[in-house]
Amino acid sequence: MDHLDEWSNTFSQKIEQIKPSDRWILEIDNNICDSRSGWEYFVQDEAFGWFHCSQCYNSWESVNVCVVFHMKLDHNSGYMKQGTVKMRQLRQRCHKCNGDNFVKPEFPSNVRNNILDNLIIQIRKYCYKERNVPNLRDVRCGNVTHGRHISSHCEACKWGICKKQRVTMTSILQYQCKIREHTNQEHNICKCCCFCFLIILLILTVLFVVANSEL
Ligand SMILES: [Zn+2]
Ligand SMILES: [Zn+2]
Repeated sequence: MDHLDEWSNTFSQKIEQIKPSDRWILEIDNNICDSRSGWEYFVQDEAFGWFHCSQCYNSWESVNVCVVFHMKLDHNSGYMKQGTVKMRQLRQRCHKCNGDNFVKPEFPSNVRNNILDNLIIQIRKYCYKERNVPNLRDVRCGNVTHGRHISSHCEACKWGICKKQRVTMTSILQYQCKIREHTNQEHNICKCCCFCFLIILLILTVLFVVANSEL
């Protein structure tokens, strides 16, 4: 199971080891959206998670689950600084239910651990301005794959922060660039042919004039 207590307890244990002199808390906030002033912003995308619909008992897996974090460290609170993390797990819609039944994700404990490790790496980097931080950990749970990603069923896609949507948009843009490059190349080849033809015509005209003047 995947409760808030497990998230906040695991987070507290992990951050205490890294920053024992400061106090951090993690809380759910389902109203946070994109970046807001005074807060650092981290989106954990491409995480593996499960969804269980409570209305029709449909369940599915996804490797495109997104979790959004806002982090803030209060530097003005004396010796022991107070840090706050707000977390929102983005939902996916059940495709078997009619209507807007969005379901919250659940995560296996190893994925939850890695997401929290990544969160702490981001806290060290942005709240403590540390330069040498480890690379982000994999949260896709090995080689697990899942069916086609349906953007209209994904809250993160609606926000435009889902990697799956960004990949699709990037490939469309790359395709458009390639078409443009190809068209430019064709134009350049045409220009080159015309130029060669004019040079040959000029040489032939000069030869013709020279030949006529010698006669
Ligand atoms: Zn359902
Ligand atoms: Zn998506």
